[in-house]
Amino acid sequence: MQAVLKNSGLKITIQRCKLLEYLTQVDEQHLTVENIYQGLNAQGETIGLNTVYRIMAHFEQAGLVVRRLFESESAIYELNNKPRHDHLICLTCGKLIEFIDPLIDLRLGLAAEHHGMSIHHHSLNMYGHCFDCQKILENQSAIYKSQLSDKSSK
Ligand SMILES: [Zn+2]
Ligand SMILES: [Zn+2]
Repeated sequence: MQAVLKNSGLKITIQRCKLLEYLTQVDEQHLTVENIYQGLNAQGETIGLNTVYRIMAHFEQAGLVVRRLFESESAIYELNNKPRHDHLICLTCGKLIEFIDPLIDLRLGLAAEHHGMSIHHHSLNMYGHCFDCQKILENQSAIYKSQLSDKSSK
């Protein structure tokens, strides 16, 4: 952790180490500041919400994490240790799916070039219903329809 912090040019503090350690250990890779704050405190760390906000902002500046704005109230952070990718977001359960499509990257690059833009980053998010939620929704509508036909047959 200390080496990672040092390489990023950030001063090493215990809290920064703890936070970075948490981000590398936790299963869920897309987290809000509140998620991180609650996760750390659940592990018995006493770290304030404002401190987490501040450290995550520093991490973002240092390129350790990426900040993403989905159509939700809070920004989502993820470690900047993966290849560039885009996201699919389920509107029902909030599940996040990552995908990489070189063809999309190529088309975006060409579009930017065409307009003379040098690109800093791009964000591409698709919203819909994941496979599991689609099945639940289908079942619900099937039940609803069978209830309707029950009523009409009586
Ligand atoms: Zn879902
Ligand atoms: Zn991601």
